[in-house]
Amino acid sequence: MLVFETVNELQKFLKKSVYSNIGFVPTMGALHLGHLSLVEEAQKQNELTVCSIFVNPAQFNKQEDLINYPRNVTKDINLLETAIVNTPWKQVILFLPSEKEIYPEYTPKKYHFNILSKVMEAKHRPGHFDGVAMVIERFLTIINPTNTYLGEKDFQQLAVVRALNQQLKFKNNIIGCPIVREPNGLAMSSRNLRLSLSEKEISASIYQCLNYAKQNAKKVTVNVLKNYVVDYLKATKKIKLEYFELADGNTLVPIKNWNETNYCVAFIAVHIRTVRLIDNMTLYTHL
Ligand code: AMP
Repeated sequence: MLVFETVNELQKFLKKSVYSNIGFVPTMGALHLGHLSLVEEAQKQNELTVCSIFVNPAQFNKQEDLINYPRNVTKDINLLETAIVNTPWKQVILFLPSEKEIYPEYTPKKYHFNILSKVMEAKHRPGHFDGVAMVIERFLTIINPTNTYLGEKDFQQLAVVRALNQQLKFKNNIIGCPIVREPNGLAMSSRNLRLSLSEKEISASIYQCLNYAKQNAKKVTVNVLKNYVVDYLKATKKIKLEYFELADGNTLVPIKNWNETNYCVAFIAVHIRTVRLIDNMTLYTHL
């Protein structure tokens, strides 16, 4: 697999190669099967797939989180190489830029995504989506992909990137891919590497809450359901709930009554010790 570390090298390669389409998979590394599912989807639909690994400092609202973020590039390269099959007509390449390459002059930018900039992740991680938008804008400008693949695991991020793509008029399709889970239901995440075995086991409660919400949507009131989740997680003693929200899956506007949406998604963010985890599940849709 070809690995490029500079924008210049990557663009030179893209310029001299003839591909009818380019798929892009942005990641922050510590790769797992969730990431690989995006690469696999990109490879199915594109002649060239560019996977990037870049731990983007701009999207971390806490320095401690950035420092503790798992990194293992050698393992990532090995994993990618075992997962992909490169042929002359289908290829996956890796873009592994330094901070200097992505931000030659770092000037924080502000973006406006209406309600998406105000609720859930945006509310609890101030500045986070400005950082995400900044790095994605930079990547899309460098690579100019046909299709970009993002996980529904980060549902709000997916909505933000769709909005960014539209605002900046990139000729690029944003493709959402389903959440890949551990056998116990825990959504795969690079941050899971920081959990102990027993913490991983207890984390299954997050998925259980989402499933309970799905089974009981519309059967009890929104408030009763929310209170159930609060009590359920409190009983685990180890999981600290940051938010549990029910919102319209298109607009992400939180709901108070079921009749406010016919496409309802449950969103959850928790802390286990110092590890922050997020997850979501569609409760119902009549689309
Ligand atoms: P990250 O490296 O955490 O920034 O994630 C890179 C991409 O992989 C994002 O589009 C994520 O939504 C996606 N992703 C992360 N975890 C999963 C998962 N469990 N299933 C599917 N996609 C995922």
